[in-house]
Amino acid sequence: MRGGLVSWIAFIGLLGGLFCGCSGGGDSAVGATETPGSASREARAESAEPTAAPEDPPSEAPARPEPPAEPPAPLARARVLLIVLGDYPRDTLDAVETALRTELEVDVERIEDVPLPREAYYPPRRRYRADRLLTFLNGHLEGEPRTTRVLGLTAVDISTTKGRHRDWGVFGLGELGGRSCVISSYRLSERGRRSDELVTFRVATTAVHEVGHTLGLEHCTDPLGVMRDAEGSIRTVDTSDGRLGEYCRRRIEETAPRVLPYRDAANAP
Ligand SMILES: [Zn+2]
Repeated sequence: MRGGLVSWIAFIGLLGGLFCGCSGGGDSAVGATETPGSASREARAESAEPTAAPEDPPSEAPARPEPPAEPPAPLARARVLLIVLGDYPRDTLDAVETALRTELEVDVERIEDVPLPREAYYPPRRRYRADRLLTFLNGHLEGEPRTTRVLGLTAVDISTTKGRHRDWGVFGLGELGGRSCVISSYRLSERGRRSDELVTFRVATTAVHEVGHTLGLEHCTDPLGVMRDAEGSIRTVDTSDGRLGEYCRRRIEETAPRVLPYRDAANAP
């Protein structure tokens, strides 16, 4: 298993449980500067010629009011390519996109669906290896700038290696400081009490968590925050408020500052 992989993952059955390895800018105003001492020189000139006839003061056009400053264009921390792998319930996609835009302030672009890669299939457990899916998803980053991330969504069960456990089922897998992550709705749809709304919330929250890792966020201590370590329980997901939390919100300004113009400013949060 590669070092640095972090995840928010769960496992079931005999392996039941879950583990998780887991400033824009703005132009500064530049005001017109006055030559130092210009006023005093004029004053001296007047006193040197006291007999000069007074003249009418030069007529000056009334000063035009300054136009209001344009607000700075919103900037995103990254662009996230959203890729569906195989069949996937479409009704959670909008929620995932909204959560990513709102909580992480990233631009999101949906990419055409792709089939699940054969090489990621793990026959002994009839599921897909999440780490191999990350390798597959990395292929979609070719030619993309460093500010691009990719999130794969799948409905099939996914797994990875955790310690002495060769194959653990997981909710999702993301690479801390990496560029790819994947989440599965499989376990998020199966565990605990269920409703369509709750499953959608779980999927969106897990997406924010894993993409957060690729933006350099480790687990945060905010008690209800989305970057909390799930520590083996779907309850941790269900009791999250789905928000970054105060600590993570400060931290992400350091790990993934907003530098990227939105492709469409209307999509900015
Ligand atoms: Zn995690």
